[in-house]
Amino acid sequence: MWIALPAGHAQAFPENLVSRARVSASSQASPADGKYGVLRLADGNRATHWASANKALPQWIRIEWDQAQEFDTISLQIYHTQARNLYAGWKRFEVELSDGTKRAYTVQPDQDVVNARLEKPCRAKWVQITLLEVYEERTYVGVDEVGIYLDPERRIREPKPIARALPREAIRVLGGRPHPSVYVTAADVARARRNAEQTEWGRQTKQEILAAADKWLERTEEEWLRFLPPPGACYAYGFTGCPICRSSWGTWGGARCSWDRPGTVQCTQGHILPDAKHPDDGSGYKGPDGRVHYFVGSWNAWVTEQWLNAINRLGHAYALTGDERYAERAAFFLDALASIYAESTSGSWDYPSSPPSGRFARPWYQVARTLVPFVEGYDLIYTSKALNKPSLRPRLEKGFPKGPTLQQRAVGTADAHGKSWEGMTRRDNIDLNLMQDGAYYCYSHSFSGGLHNGHADYMRGALAVGVLLGIPTYVYNAVESPYSIYAMLANNCDRDGRYYETALGYAIHCRNLYLTFTEPLRHWSDERYPKGVNLFANDRFRAFYELPDLTMDVAGHALNYGDCGPDHAFIFPSDAKFSGTDYTFAEHLYAGCTGAERERFARLLRYLAGGDVERARAAAPNRTWLLYHADPVPGAEAPSLPEDLHRKVFGSWFLGQKGLAILRDGSGAEAQGALVRFGPSLNHG
Ligand SMILES: [Zn+2]
Repeated sequence: MWIALPAGHAQAFPENLVSRARVSASSQASPADGKYGVLRLADGNRATHWASANKALPQWIRIEWDQAQEFDTISLQIYHTQARNLYAGWKRFEVELSDGTKRAYTVQPDQDVVNARLEKPCRAKWVQITLLEVYEERTYVGVDEVGIYLDPERRIREPKPIARALPREAIRVLGGRPHPSVYVTAADVARARRNAEQTEWGRQTKQEILAAADKWLERTEEEWLRFLPPPGACYAYGFTGCPICRSSWGTWGGARCSWDRPGTVQCTQGHILPDAKHPDDGSGYKGPDGRVHYFVGSWNAWVTEQWLNAINRLGHAYALTGDERYAERAAFFLDALASIYAESTSGSWDYPSSPPSGRFARPWYQVARTLVPFVEGYDLIYTSKALNKPSLRPRLEKGFPKGPTLQQRAVGTADAHGKSWEGMTRRDNIDLNLMQDGAYYCYSHSFSGGLHNGHADYMRGALAVGVLLGIPTYVYNAVESPYSIYAMLANNCDRDGRYYETALGYAIHCRNLYLTFTEPLRHWSDERYPKGVNLFANDRFRAFYELPDLTMDVAGHALNYGDCGPDHAFIFPSDAKFSGTDYTFAEHLYAGCTGAERERFARLLRYLAGGDVERARAAAPNRTWLLYHADPVPGAEAPSLPEDLHRKVFGSWFLGQKGLAILRDGSGAEAQGALVRFGPSLNHG
């Protein structure tokens, strides 16, 4: 196919006159044609740069021709933001021409490109650019490339601004949101109470929630407070295991700890640590082989993760019963944790990063994994008067050790401090020092440019708090930024509804992550989005959740490719297809859609449930979610699949973008199939 270009397109881009000049510099960190030599600023390659020999100022570069050239634009690409530890940011420089013209220019902080325009074209035999001042001294100053052009039509442009996080003080917190409104609304709470009365699975689910919550009503507040770690304490996965027998004691909330033996862990062989031979002052026990065993760090992680779970269960118990005792206890745990959250910034010390970063035990993007259930529980009790009581924080702070905390002394994670004042309420403390602190951490990490699952975590963490507290910046960032949920969908989900990575397991994990964007976005409301944002209206989004598991099934086997292990299983094939994963997604599609789409997904649910949706719900793993969102599904028969889905599950299917052809034939016990591949293998990264 031929494409006709508009005539103007053929016009040559202005020639860079530097390409036929001699260049020299006041100094250089290697010979002229070496790695950091002056020729590197005139080689047209943005991957190379010139570096000065040292930090002394002024430094200059000079561009010289045999004959005078005519030009009006000098474009300077500064080397600074790529390596700010080593290269100073330019502040003020001067341009001098051989005809005597002299101009001074100021550079903004972090500005990478300066297009210096002369008022009219000049003729000159040489140009000298002299750097006079930098923002902060570093080892070198550098230039990526220099361009000198005759550009009367102004075709040389500034680069597009890069999306960057706003500083925390510029984030507006508007408040005024109804509650609950992040993952459920008041209408959903009414539905949950109805389901708990009218369905068997609903009754059972409510009982389980109340039983789990009741456990946390035991003990007094003062008894629980003894377990609260100090600010900046050690947290750990506990990777190294038992120093005596090498067996594991579990990780985080799943560690083998007990309220009856505070500060200790127990390995699977029964060793309780620390003990007299393996002491731990809070920063870990260093074994003879040099490895560190974090007993107390694992205990601290266990406490914070157990309490997170408590807050979540107590919140749901409050939503289902209105019993203030649940809200009171959830508010207590939240307030206690919020008194050390903004200070506990290291994440797990045994996570490979230096210095470690995070909140409590969770490193980096994992901060969102715990922030989201904190938000869920908090939102459910937000209207309770239990949150108007005075916060523990001012009192607790008086008892905390003074000076640098353990994290700063032992692993070099910089200490941070939350806000505190006499008379602050629990709500003040939780809003500021847990919710807003965690959300800003997530938000500020969501501009790295990656669109991977870790990025999705950062986005959803900030989004949840944005919808909770009325912070438009976090909501708009999730739907409008270059790294939004729509950018993730467009880049990571292909036209066949498949995830771009080859690994089937990570593809399902990604779907679960994106699903957590749907409810907060739908529940948001402001002038810009009066009806919120409905991801289920997006074709690509819906396709991503339509039977992703069963469409990759051939005669009972998951397609064996990518990083799957060998599949030796004997399976008696059957036409009665079921996938718990697909069932969960079908419930979300049914709850999230309206009209003909909703009817399509009602059919899908009845198909997967063999006609008995209530029975399938009783066996579903996500019954807490179902309690709030499941409406009766009309009809009792087991229908066939919609035609397009039937072909993808039982017939043959060609997935052009992924380079897969799935061939199926026969039915029941005679079912057979083959996979043909020509596409790429994109492993998890
Ligand atoms: Zn052991």
